[in-house]
Amino acid sequence: MAKVLIIGAGGVGQVVTHKCAQNPEVFSEIVLASRTESKCRRIAEQIERPIKTAQVDADQVPQTVELIEREKPALVINVALPYQDLTIMDACLETGVDYLDTANYEPPDDARFSYSWQWEYHERFRERGLMALLGSGFDPGVTNVFTAHARKHHFDRIETLDIIDCNAGDHGKPFATNFNPEINIREVTQNGRYYKDGGWVETGPLEVVEEFDFPDGIGPRKIYLMYHEELESITKHLPEIREARFWMTFSDSYLKHLEVLQNVGMTRIDPVEHQGVKIVPLQFLKSVLPDPASLGPDTKGKTCIGCVIEGTRDGQPRKYYVYNICDHQQAYREVRSQAVSYTTGVPAMIGAKMMLTGAWRGDGVFNMEQFDPDPFMKALNSDGLPWHETFL
Ligand code: NDP
Repeated sequence: MAKVLIIGAGGVGQVVTHKCAQNPEVFSEIVLASRTESKCRRIAEQIERPIKTAQVDADQVPQTVELIEREKPALVINVALPYQDLTIMDACLETGVDYLDTANYEPPDDARFSYSWQWEYHERFRERGLMALLGSGFDPGVTNVFTAHARKHHFDRIETLDIIDCNAGDHGKPFATNFNPEINIREVTQNGRYYKDGGWVETGPLEVVEEFDFPDGIGPRKIYLMYHEELESITKHLPEIREARFWMTFSDSYLKHLEVLQNVGMTRIDPVEHQGVKIVPLQFLKSVLPDPASLGPDTKGKTCIGCVIEGTRDGQPRKYYVYNICDHQQAYREVRSQAVSYTTGVPAMIGAKMMLTGAWRGDGVFNMEQFDPDPFMKALNSDGLPWHETFL
């Protein structure tokens, strides 16, 4: 039984709060804090159990420290934005509290995400006897656990890993993002990058395209190669992997709009002068795009995220696919959020459960693939994200 402090009342924060509330035997008390407290209260009103709310600007370490000291949680779940990762980790170190997040740090003025900044905290967390679990969403998160599960149960050696993320849902809008638009567009407009034979190969943004036939009636879709953060940690912790790539589907409409927005400069992240005021075009764009949390009621269809893995077992080559299918409308009925927030928020709750029950423990900063995948895989089945596996 433990008290948990969730920071960030967006689409993902809403799901984490609902799912923690569904597990009272682990999460005995829940505090939800965010920059705008009214958003916390709106979420708390959806849930029968009492959820305490608070206001915090997590960019400010002293404010975050004050909140943690006041509430004394056993764990802080950070589902604000990647920009807050380091300040919240600093506050956890200062107050002696464990930490969990779903996305790695990136500096606001440089769209370059990497675990290096957070891995630098390892010694400080270890010395304090604290644990930080990084990237406990779906991708990163479940995809790391899927890889560890495959390695433990089906392969003596993994040669290639392809993480494939398909959102086959439709929200009926010509252009909208399913999670924070600023973070999403920064990610998608970066150069692609994949791991091969001990090094990184750069590609242009969304330059490499293939087709993949998805299960469960989704069918064939174009998949685009992108860089994604779990490639960095998985290839570090499983150095036998020769090639690791990440792929995502996009609708033609999404890509058409993105191209135009890029061409006219609306995705720039450097400040520009507008009527005597400095504005960042991408941040302005975020304020005119639909709030991802508002897409829930209208989004129909499914997501399918999984790993295609090739390698050997007992000297024989094999090809394996492990994946989850999540239905947007079913997720909405349960927690009033679409499947992209659902598939991120559920693993954040499960990661927290692993830490608080002692199933996953360690002093320092860890990625998901470093722990025994079995209890996490079991919890995915019971907590709303059942998985399927097949040999191809
Ligand atoms: P949203 O933009 O919907 O929500 C972010 C929330 O954080 C908002 O409520 C925002 O407050 C709050 N916030 C922002 N800055 C601060 C601050 N300085 N102090 C306190 N609160 C703050 O984003 P999502 O819910 O879609 O995403 C949340 C996180 O999940 C992101 O880091 C994202 O990258 C990650 N993610 C991970 C995935 C995975 O599979 N691993 C997939 C999808 C998302 P306000 O409302 O006031 O702006």
